[in-house]
Amino acid sequence: MPEQITNDFIAQFNSLSNSGMLERNQSLQHENRQLRRLIDDSAALLLITSADSMFEFISTRFLDYFLPQFMAFMIQPPRENSIIQYCYKNIGRVSERIDDSNYKTLRKYYEEGNSENEFEKIKVKTGSDCFSKDFLDIHPLMIFPLKGIGGIYGFAIFSDKLTGNAYTRAEIDYITHMFSVLSVMIQNDMHYKTSITDPKTGLYTYDYFINKLDETTAIVRRYKHTAGLLMIDIDHFKNFNDTWGHLAGDKVLITMAASMSAVLRKEDCLCRFGGEEFAILIPETDAVGLTTLAERLRKTVSQSEVNVNGNKLSVTISLGACLISASERAEPKVLLDRADKALYFAKTSGRNCSALFPDGLLRRAAIHRGISEIEILGQAQISGKA
Ligand code: GH3
Ligand code: MG
Ligand code: MG
Repeated sequence: MPEQITNDFIAQFNSLSNSGMLERNQSLQHENRQLRRLIDDSAALLLITSADSMFEFISTRFLDYFLPQFMAFMIQPPRENSIIQYCYKNIGRVSERIDDSNYKTLRKYYEEGNSENEFEKIKVKTGSDCFSKDFLDIHPLMIFPLKGIGGIYGFAIFSDKLTGNAYTRAEIDYITHMFSVLSVMIQNDMHYKTSITDPKTGLYTYDYFINKLDETTAIVRRYKHTAGLLMIDIDHFKNFNDTWGHLAGDKVLITMAASMSAVLRKEDCLCRFGGEEFAILIPETDAVGLTTLAERLRKTVSQSEVNVNGNKLSVTISLGACLISASERAEPKVLLDRADKALYFAKTSGRNCSALFPDGLLRRAAIHRGISEIEILGQAQISGKA
C-alpha cells in the first residue's frame, strides 16, 4: 500500500536522522569532496614546471577558495639574498611589498622549532615589535612556512577572509597539504636552477652549455638554421688580480656577467666556460649578426667599470666567433675548436678585439688554395681595437 510505504520510509529516515547517521554521511561526503579537490589540485600542480606558474596556480586556488583580504608569498631561493614576493589584495595581484625584515623574524621563529600557524600565537612568542607596521597593517591571520631539506624557503601569509569567516580545520589542512607538494616542487625547481648555474656569476655552467650546444647543433641541421658560437677571454686578467687582488677580480667577473647578459636576448645561452672564460650560444644569427654582437659585447665590457676602494677599474676582452651552419655539419667539439682558434687569433692580434672563424665557401676556397686554417683566420674579420 503506497501510504504504508511512505510511512515506513519516513520512519526509517527519522531513525537514521536521530541516530546521527545522516549528518555523518553528509560530513563524509563533504570530506570526500575536499580530498578529491586536494588530489586534483596536487596532481595539477605536479604538472607545472616553472616556479612562477606554480605560484600563479596555487594563488588562484587559494584566492578562489578562501577569498582572503590579503595574501602574500615571500620566497627566498637558495644562494640568493633578495626575497621574491607575490602579494594579492582583494583577490588581485598588487605590486606592493612587505618589509623584508618580517621574513627574517618568521624564519627565525620556525627555525627555532616552532610550528604554530596562527599569527596571534606567533606574535606572543616573538613579540609584536619584531614585525614592521606595514606587516601588522595587513592583519595577518595565518602563516604557513615552506619547508625543505635546505631549511625554510618561504612563507604564505593569509589575512582575514573577505567574508569575515574563520579558516576551517579542513581549509587549514588543504593549505598545509598543498604547501607540502609546492615545497617539493619549488625545491626541485630551485635545485635544478642551482645545479645548472655558476654560484659566482649566476651564469650557466659548462655542462649545461655543452648540452645546449649539442641540442642547437641538431636543430640547425634539422631545420637548416644558422646559429653562432662565441668564446670570450678577459685580457691580462692575471695582471689585474696581481695588482688589485682576487676579490676585485671577482667583482669584475660578476659585473661582466651582468653587463653581457643585458646585451643578450633571453634565448641566448651565456655560460662561464672556465675561470675567466665565457661562451655564448646564439640560436638564430648569421655572420653579420654574430660579428656585430661580438663587437657590442666587447665595447660594453670595456665601458663597464667596477669600483675598488674608490678606483674605477675596467678590463677588456678578446672574442672568437664561429658560425654553426646546416651545410657545414660540424660536430660540437669542432665548433668549439674553431671558436677557440678565432679567440687565440684575436689574442695574438693584440687583444681587445674579435675574430670570426670563416666558414662555408670562404673556408673551402682557402683550403683549396692550400692555406691553413690559422692563416685563413689571418684573413678573417678582425674588428675594432677600442
Ligand atoms: P690573456 O690576455 O692571455 O688571457 O692573459 P690572462 O692573464 O688573462 O690569462 P691567464 O690564463 O694566464 O690567466 C687567467 C687568470 O684568470 C688567472 C686566474 O687567477 C684568473 N681567474 C680565473 N678564475 C678566477 C676567479 O674566479 N676569480 C678571479 N679573481 N680570478 C680568476
Ligand atoms: Mg684564460
Ligand atoms: Mg685571459
